Amino acid sequence: MTAYNGYVTDETIEGADDGPLADKTVAVKDNISTEGVRTTCGSAMLSDYVPPYDATVVERLKDAGATIPGKTNMDEFGMGTTTETSAYGPVENPVAEGRVPGGSSGGSAAVVAAGDADLALGSDTGGSIRCPAAFCGVVGIKPTYGLVSRYGLVAYANSLEQIGPIAPSVEDAAELLDVIAGPDEHDATTQEAPESDGSYAAAADGDIDGLSIGVPTELLDGADEEVVETFWDAMDDLEAQGASYHEVDLPSVEHAVEAYYVIAMSEASSNLARFDGVRYGQSGGYDGNWNESFANAREEGFGEEVKRRILLGTYALSAGYHDKYYKKAQDARAWVKQDFDEALEDADVLASPTMPVPPMKRGESLDDPLTMYLADANTTPVNLANLPAISVPAGETGDGLPVGLQLVGPAFGERDIIRAGSALA
Ligand code: GLN
Repeated sequence: MTAYNGYVTDETIEGADDGPLADKTVAVKDNISTEGVRTTCGSAMLSDYVPPYDATVVERLKDAGATIPGKTNMDEFGMGTTTETSAYGPVENPVAEGRVPGGSSGGSAAVVAAGDADLALGSDTGGSIRCPAAFCGVVGIKPTYGLVSRYGLVAYANSLEQIGPIAPSVEDAAELLDVIAGPDEHDATTQEAPESDGSYAAAADGDIDGLSIGVPTELLDGADEEVVETFWDAMDDLEAQGASYHEVDLPSVEHAVEAYYVIAMSEASSNLARFDGVRYGQSGGYDGNWNESFANAREEGFGEEVKRRILLGTYALSAGYHDKYYKKAQDARAWVKQDFDEALEDADVLASPTMPVPPMKRGESLDDPLTMYLADANTTPVNLANLPAISVPAGETGDGLPVGLQLVGPAFGERDIIRAGSALA
């Protein structure tokens, strides 16, 4: 166990004797299935659920020789930005006392930042790899949709999420990406990256001479002043190394958070229907009425944030409201995608602060869900557009709080963001 509550379960899983990760420990987020080792998704609903199979990424880790030191704590079913909604208690930020580690993969980022694992896997539906990486001062990559298999990832919102690496440096993160990336016959949404010359790790060469960076002004508006200052300092650093930057417009992103939450909650309401105490989850007992049994299981097994999202998602999909909310959100998603594609015609990568704010104080966010959702302003648009993004440490605020810089690339442009990020970390 760690003092900051990074692991839900610290059971060691040994990998093959040799392979590219033979001398590495890789912690795995607790919504990624591990055969024979319980996988709770941070939920009381799954407190004794033991998967009968490994997720594809776990199989690949084992084949690569990695040792898995445990399953990391997370917001319940990935729903959160602070890792405070876990049924197993909140995670503390090991590098910023009294602050949250970010979420939902807060445990994964914390164990890497504290040196309790060399590397970790997280999952990112709307920022859950990049946010905790930024708040804990480490590197996180959200891959292009379809680059990494989701087989064995307990679904929150399948059309948005990807599993990805968290690591102390860009090169380490890229090495882990090399192991987990690539098509999988168990996940029909995976595909071969079109350009596949050279490993991702080899792209971490720091050579950014001539790199053109677009800065979407909308992603700086309203951000914390010290975060913006730290961001520009890092941009100056990149410029000094041969990159150039220009401002770009992404008018659609002002609607991204709304669109994201409608889509994510709608998908969640459908995905989480299987947790009824019969198919999956704690039993709700049976007194002659199955509806009551299901209701009991869900009342007791789910936390407040999960219930809120199931209710809102069910509402958004219901007859009469479907066109007003869900369909509108899908239109906004298409617009966001188009805006990114256009901006990336004149730039190799786009840059912004990963999070508009520094790590929040612990215990303050859950009372005000809307403000918490707005903290996802810079990360959610990238999931809507299915693009790859990396968060790298940009520096610190005056109080020593970590600030992350996000780089977004074209679809399957992982090498571009890895190369650019490696000039900083
Ligand atoms: N904070 C976002 C949410 O709560 C993102 C979570 C994630 O990427 N899993 O939905």
